[in-house]
Amino acid sequence: MNIKKPSSHKNSEPESGFLYIVGTPIGNLNDLSLRALNILKNVSLIACEDTRQTRKLMSKFAFTNNLISFNKHNSSIKIPRIVNDLNSGKSIALASDAGMPSICDPGENLVKYAKSKGIGIVCIPGPCAALTAIVSSGLPSSKFIFEGFLPKKKSEREKILLDISKNDKTTIIYESPHRLLKLLGQLKEYCGGEREIQVFRELTKKFEEHIGNNVDEVLNFFEGREILGEITVVIKGINKEIQNPELNKQYLKEELNDLIKAGLSLSSASKYLAKKNNISKNLIYKLH
Ligand code: SAM
Repeated sequence: MNIKKPSSHKNSEPESGFLYIVGTPIGNLNDLSLRALNILKNVSLIACEDTRQTRKLMSKFAFTNNLISFNKHNSSIKIPRIVNDLNSGKSIALASDAGMPSICDPGENLVKYAKSKGIGIVCIPGPCAALTAIVSSGLPSSKFIFEGFLPKKKSEREKILLDISKNDKTTIIYESPHRLLKLLGQLKEYCGGEREIQVFRELTKKFEEHIGNNVDEVLNFFEGREILGEITVVIKGINKEIQNPELNKQYLKEELNDLIKAGLSLSSASKYLAKKNNISKNLIYKLH
């Protein structure tokens, strides 16, 4: 596949026929980069998720440009049109409502199709809620798992929750405020109340909040409150030594049997081991 390469001179941006994927702020409009501003000002048109959001940027930075809406509902019609415009020499910026396009936002299908047609793609990186949250958490962040929004379908959701309960890497989840308590309840069920998590609300905005330190404390904090704003959840992975309970089954089984022999009920022994190893009580139960 022959894809157009941008000129090596960044001051010639934007170039005719290129698609610019532009990261925009996740709250604080001052997070728009100078390069992103230059692109948004000077492309032939901006394909944006919601024209009202992009107008806020235009108003803040005192410029205007041509806007077309590009979202999950109209993307199949808009993608070939955008690629036609690019082929006819227009330069186009893609911007989502907030953060990086394509990260739980429209974009990836447009990039895929444009690339398949040989269109040059240039990403202007910008804020992303997932990265802002993990970096703010102080949890291990060189390797991590980004789950985006968890699926609503029960079986798919349970599978991911089980994966999280066993994973040794930090996991990042996006959640809507009205589903946060349900998610926290499920994290307690699968990972135990002691699992370290932090909830980030309204990152980069005036009322930014970081709430931790474990599932029980966070549940306690939010229960009975009206939960508003944008939420990202960061979950610490389990201890490396017990990183895969499947591999440590034998060890856990022996410990479980010892505790039962010593007089603990199955329930108490499982609860104790779940807490100690930072894994779900259900996983221990299954060993008996
Ligand atoms: N493309 C965006 C990005 O790069 O982060 C994400 C878009 S996704 C549709 C929106 C979700 O991101 C929100 O529901 C929330 O979970 C998370 N999010 C966006 N802005 C946030 C913020 N300021 N604080 C916390 N979470 C945020």
